[in-house]
Amino acid sequence: MSQIKKILILGGGFGGINVLELIQNKFKNNPNVQISLVSQDNYFLYTPMLPQVSSGLIHPNDITIPIRKLCKQAKFYHAAVSYVDMKQKLVTVTREFDGKVNALEYDYLVITLGSNTNFFDNENIEKYAFTIKTVEDALSINFNLINMLENAAQTSDVDFKKELMSFTVVGGGFAGVETMGEINQLVRDSVKNFYPNIGEENISMNLIASKEFILPELGPKLGKMAGEYLKNAGVNVLTNTKAIDAGEDFVKLDNGKIIPCMTLIWAAGIDVDPIVSELNCIHKKSGKLKVDKYLKVFEHDDVFALGDCALITNPLTGQAYPTTAQNSIHQSATVANNLFSVIMGKSKLKEYSFKSKGMMTTLGRKVAIAVLFGYPITGLLAWLIWRTYYLFRLPTIEKKYQVATSWTADLLFKRDLTFIGLIKSKYLTKVDIKSNTTSIKDFFKDK
Ligand SMILES: Cc1cc2nc3c(=O)[nH]c(=O)nc-3n(C[C@H](O)[C@H](O)[C@H](O)COP(=O)(O)OP(=O)(O)OC[C@H]3O[C@@H](n4cnc5c(N)ncnc54)[C@H](O)[C@@H]3O)c2cc1C
Repeated sequence: MSQIKKILILGGGFGGINVLELIQNKFKNNPNVQISLVSQDNYFLYTPMLPQVSSGLIHPNDITIPIRKLCKQAKFYHAAVSYVDMKQKLVTVTREFDGKVNALEYDYLVITLGSNTNFFDNENIEKYAFTIKTVEDALSINFNLINMLENAAQTSDVDFKKELMSFTVVGGGFAGVETMGEINQLVRDSVKNFYPNIGEENISMNLIASKEFILPELGPKLGKMAGEYLKNAGVNVLTNTKAIDAGEDFVKLDNGKIIPCMTLIWAAGIDVDPIVSELNCIHKKSGKLKVDKYLKVFEHDDVFALGDCALITNPLTGQAYPTTAQNSIHQSATVANNLFSVIMGKSKLKEYSFKSKGMMTTLGRKVAIAVLFGYPITGLLAWLIWRTYYLFRLPTIEKKYQVATSWTADLLFKRDLTFIGLIKSKYLTKVDIKSNTTSIKDFFKDK
């Protein structure tokens, strides 16, 4: 191998950082391979613990790992991918701090850009609902919950107090259920400990799920059991129900019922970004990238795709693999292996296949529900297994320590209810730092 091969990874989430780690090891000290990663966030986000940020149980920095810490020999670009030209093998990226557009060349591309929240074209829901996808989302929810508590504590109008204390989460999957479990815990604990004049009887927690039972991935028995746990913890679980409209202080359901609520959280679906769905290659109806069994994008031998933005069919079931961190991590190993084989001129590629050993979710403090190796586990034991497993999977010892410390503090002390409010941001238009990439305008001029 003489010519330098450029590998470009798009996205710094579960797929991106795991491919990065594996190929850095495979091509360790190899001067003929140049690895770069582009991400619009300069950190990796450990999403399974994001609902715990929304409840203030852990801090945002506990579950974010700066991508530069993971780049042993790779270059990192803190920029948004704006266009992928698979013919010219170019990716244009928009630098985060000044909006400058650059072009990056590649020989091999790995697309792992994740997903966006899907509002199913409902503009009102998009306008009025919080989402739970990013650190900013989780912090916004947390500040909003505290804001609602502070306001409810200051009103003597019982109807208004009830509206302020009404919280609705839409989505019966892992993200929605875990978020409901977390905010229910925070609000009820806080009212008991710090806002006695609000009155627990004025709190209303609603979980809206479109399927017959919540957590369909765990099957009907555990899904129904999880619903019962939440009901016992004071949550109204409305199944076979969809939210169809929303306003500043209500959510409307498809059965005509209107729930007055000041806080609506939408965790009911995902779709892919137009950058992915408009790529010039074969897509599924959802816009996801169609890949073959080696995770190569159809008709593009030098492009791999994985994670939430790709549709990968399980050869054993004929069904698409679910969009989970677990799948992204396992797909990363296949992509890294096949990239290595292709670059080293080996003809045998690895087929992707994965059988999940289990799934689990937390429902609040000391309660979780899991199915492991086919066996159902519930309650405190499931909660301990959840914590041990997810703490173990969290990258870096430093972050494991931080999360373990936050968890311990939560068992010993009352929850922090500091309301910090909005953060001012500054957009720098005049700064021009010399980039080591070519600007897109200059790039095409040279061609
Ligand atoms: C609240 C919540 C809880 C979850 N809990 C679990 C769980 O318990 N277990 C589980 O298995 N899964 C869980 N998931 C799902 C899991 O997070 C996803 O399936 C997983 O993150 C997908 O990995 P990915 O690499 O495809 O995408 P992501 O991890 O989302 O990464 C996408 C990356 O691309 C970057 N990006 C996106 N667009 C651009 C662009 N235009 N330019 C540059 N960069 C871009 C993003 O910044 C990010 O770094 C949860 C998800 C959420 C939201």
